[in-house]
Amino acid sequence: MMIPVMNVQRQYASLQDELDKAALEVLHSGGYILGPKVADFEKQFADYCGAKYSVGVGNGTDALVIALLAAGIGQGDEVITTAMTFVSTAEAIAQVGATPVFVDIQPEVYTMDPSKLEAAFTDKTKAVIPVHIYGQAADMDEICRIAHAHNAIVIEDCAQAAGAKYKGRRTCSLGDMACVSFFPTKNLGAAGDAGIIVTNNEDFYKGCLAYRVHGSGINGAYTYARLNNQEFDESKIDFHGNLPKYYNYLVGFNSRLDALQAAMLSVKLPHLDSWNERRRQIAAIYNDKITNDKITKPVVADYNEHIFYVYPLRVEDRAAFRAFLEERGVTTGVYFPVPMHEQACFAGLGYKHGDFPVAEDLAEHGVTIPMFPELTDEEIQTVIDAVNAF
Ligand SMILES: *Cc1c(COP(=O)(O)O)cnc(C)c1O
Repeated sequence: MMIPVMNVQRQYASLQDELDKAALEVLHSGGYILGPKVADFEKQFADYCGAKYSVGVGNGTDALVIALLAAGIGQGDEVITTAMTFVSTAEAIAQVGATPVFVDIQPEVYTMDPSKLEAAFTDKTKAVIPVHIYGQAADMDEICRIAHAHNAIVIEDCAQAAGAKYKGRRTCSLGDMACVSFFPTKNLGAAGDAGIIVTNNEDFYKGCLAYRVHGSGINGAYTYARLNNQEFDESKIDFHGNLPKYYNYLVGFNSRLDALQAAMLSVKLPHLDSWNERRRQIAAIYNDKITNDKITKPVVADYNEHIFYVYPLRVEDRAAFRAFLEERGVTTGVYFPVPMHEQACFAGLGYKHGDFPVAEDLAEHGVTIPMFPELTDEEIQTVIDAVNAF
């Protein structure tokens, strides 16, 4: 039996009774889209993050797209993010019609390098999206200071770091908005696609509420007025006795968190801290016991509580390392093999190899070893022995 890099069945097994019960309850209720289960989870998750509002959406990519639109970002604008992320971050920027601008990551910690940020601003820059990649927060105080000095907002891409802390504060409460993915393998995973936007800003909140339901209703009317610098007079809004959802003010999306996913997530959220703690514990064992000097281990910035969505190593000969571990029953992963500026879909942006050396090095030499809370002590030892034998 191969030891997987990630595994969702074991977590399901550990909560099966509760999850099955919650799922059946939704099936029997007949309410499948939005509704009380979604509202409950939104409240629970915002509270967990220490933020005021959250808006459940279809997935983490839609969360990014909707957050950008709710902030009025689109054609002609530029948004800065890092060259090393999952494609969604850059894709969302392009999807709203804005231009992704990349900066390099910091060596060893792998999050956005704040020292590279200033030079990336132009008078078109409207937002910065730092990515809390692999489970640790970017240096948010520095990033927010620089971005806000340029009147740009900061949107956290928290898809890989639900529950992580920065200077004692939870991720998702550190910028102007935050986007989370509940893709099944993420630290907090649904039983399908799901995502959420978290914010303390009431205007952004209303904008996200509108965009996830086709830009309709009172939130659509309000957001349209805000984005077009018009006075909003609620008393002038008249739905003529019809459903507000049939009055569309913005071109939006059908992207809602569904009740089944919200119910699954509500069962799992109370366990997130203990799961993250177990990931940290496994990482501490790896840190301690991996002694192979061909391997560079991940560095945790001193201000961070890393929650190890993955455990990223650097090794010169990655192909040989992966083959060696595979033979010993250990699966490895690569997150991610192609940096954003070298993706074919972004060729038109005009970047070239050599522009972001740290991201490029990680794309070529980065590799992850098994990391999920349900790993057994025996499996952890097998992984360590294999890595050290290489
Ligand atoms: C997973 C991920 C996303 C996208 O989430 P989906 O729910 O798959 O759309 C965005 N950004 C990062 C960094 C991710 O890892």
